[in-house]
Amino acid sequence: MENFERKLKEYAELLIRVGLHIKQGMELMVYAPVDTANFARMCVSAAYDAGAREVTVIWSDDYVTRERFLRAERGVFDSVPAWRRELMNGKAREGAAHLFIEAADPMNLKDAEPERMLANAKARGRDLEEFQRLETTSAFPWCIASVPIKPWADKVFPDKEDNVDLLWDAIFEAVRIKGDGTAVAAWEAHLANLRTRTEKLNAYNFASLHYKNALGTDLEIKLPENHIWMSGEEKTPTGHPFVANMPTEEIFTAPLKAGVNGIVYAAMPLVEDGNVIRDFHLVFKDGKITEIHAEEGEEVLRNSIAVDEGACYLGEVALIPYDSPIANQGILYYETLFDENASCHLAYGAAYPCIVGGNDMSEEELKEHGLNVSSQHTDFMIGTADLSIVGKTHDGKEVEVFKNGNFCF
Ligand code: ZN
Ligand code: ZN
Repeated sequence: MENFERKLKEYAELLIRVGLHIKQGMELMVYAPVDTANFARMCVSAAYDAGAREVTVIWSDDYVTRERFLRAERGVFDSVPAWRRELMNGKAREGAAHLFIEAADPMNLKDAEPERMLANAKARGRDLEEFQRLETTSAFPWCIASVPIKPWADKVFPDKEDNVDLLWDAIFEAVRIKGDGTAVAAWEAHLANLRTRTEKLNAYNFASLHYKNALGTDLEIKLPENHIWMSGEEKTPTGHPFVANMPTEEIFTAPLKAGVNGIVYAAMPLVEDGNVIRDFHLVFKDGKITEIHAEEGEEVLRNSIAVDEGACYLGEVALIPYDSPIANQGILYYETLFDENASCHLAYGAAYPCIVGGNDMSEEELKEHGLNVSSQHTDFMIGTADLSIVGKTHDGKEVEVFKNGNFCF
């Protein structure tokens, strides 16, 4: 077998075995663009090899998606069709494993009317609320991964003829695939490293984090009582392990919704629905985003933050060393799955229930504990080579968490 084929097969097996831990009798839903059919089929085979009871693939297509946004009747964006609602909420309720293969032209929807995009996002937030809640509370195993498609490679490496191959190489490196059968062991070691650091952060039990860098970031983020730092591997309520994002380099928790004050500057562009938002900063007052400035894409950013009441509050605090494998590649992927793993980031919108007992709490209870609720969740990158983060403990002790962009412990 050629090396490329070997890497492909190892990647598909990695997603099925480490990403989702597919075991005898499990059901798997695969969401994949038609342009990734070859790889999606390999995942289907790997899942049956692992004993899956049934694998169903739901195909999507950038072309069809774009045509819909440009040409469908306006009214269709006000609700999610009943069949899709029933499919997604129903399979989540049943606890089926979900594999999402993400590969899109980052520019696919750049000509769509922002108003349609906003209506669509609102409808999904409302009609797929059950799916999203079960996903964020780890009620079923899910894994997001990516493979190259031509328009995406054209965006990442615009002047290179062999850009699809280059993007494959970059992705294989990012997900620790060498084609020599060592990926599963490499991931086990990586997940264990993340776990060690996560345990240290949990032991400090910080009351707040203070971010500063030369871009102008000067932001204090309070953390909720009983917050939990999480990383890499998660577990469903029945103890089934899964890795929600592959790659993943982050250690993350939830901020206190009303406890964010100051200013934060983006360190990388943000790609939202095919639009690039560049050189932006946000000002926070008691948790709420009160000022938005972007050199490019400001309207898209404003719409994204206006999806619902919670969208203008933070929902995630994630730590990633500046010196990490994906950051060191120096590639802007135009895809959050990769770009968020290159840099410390925050997300506006929903918080993952990263507090003790959080997965069993209702939306109301999460709110009472200071966690943000929203149908929105968008990561934006803030980590720079000079980023410093100082943690403050509940007894007032200050601890350096990040210095010059990297962990101090
Ligand atoms: Zn994150
Ligand atoms: Zn996130």
